[in-house]
Amino acid sequence: MQSKLVLFDIDETLIHSDGSGRRAIGRAVVDVLGVKPEGIKVSMSGKTDPQILSEIMTACGQPADHFHERQEELFNIYLKVLEREINQSQAYRLHEGVLELLAELDKHPDVYLGILTGNIERGARIKLGRFGLNHYFPIGAYGSDSGNRNDLPAIARQRAELHYKKEFPAKQILVVGDSVHDVTCAKSYGAISIAVNTGVTSRKDLEEREPDFLFPSLSNVPAVLEAILETGAGR
Ligand SMILES: [Mg+2]
Repeated sequence: MQSKLVLFDIDETLIHSDGSGRRAIGRAVVDVLGVKPEGIKVSMSGKTDPQILSEIMTACGQPADHFHERQEELFNIYLKVLEREINQSQAYRLHEGVLELLAELDKHPDVYLGILTGNIERGARIKLGRFGLNHYFPIGAYGSDSGNRNDLPAIARQRAELHYKKEFPAKQILVVGDSVHDVTCAKSYGAISIAVNTGVTSRKDLEEREPDFLFPSLSNVPAVLEAILETGAGR
């Protein structure tokens, strides 16, 4: 088998975040930019943090890039609130099958893992750290690298090739995620898409994007493993 690079989304793919990210972003924009809470009702699923902030600005009738100059301050508050939310929330948990799947993939000599998320890197690491998952993902591409999710596979690949000292052609890269944006991002790069129906996106909406695989969740570990190991170039 040729090497595979498996890139996981975080929110509602690995982790049920119980609205913690939304509350943390909400707190930060209210505190730093004086935004009215109505503006925070934008859909966040599958979007990058910079994209979410731009959309909040637009919803509040402000220029989309209005948050840029206060970004550092915004993200500092966001991360502080996020950490508190995550530690306090009883409902913050891993999705079913995640621990077993990661343990299986980690053991496999031809499988290499990474993160592909709209979260800024520090936020992603806080979320993964809550469950001790950071060690599975030495590399990743994040919302702090680009506001456009479709830029992220190339960034993840570059980092993975440097770190693992392996080549990962697009056909040997799998993107696992719960939203249509994860599917689109995989397809835009020519990577393989594994959609999981554990987020707010309906099964029908996921199906319409024609992911290579669609699972109700990651809980059927043998089936997900088979999809990852058997698909793509060199099968
Ligand atoms: Mg997600």
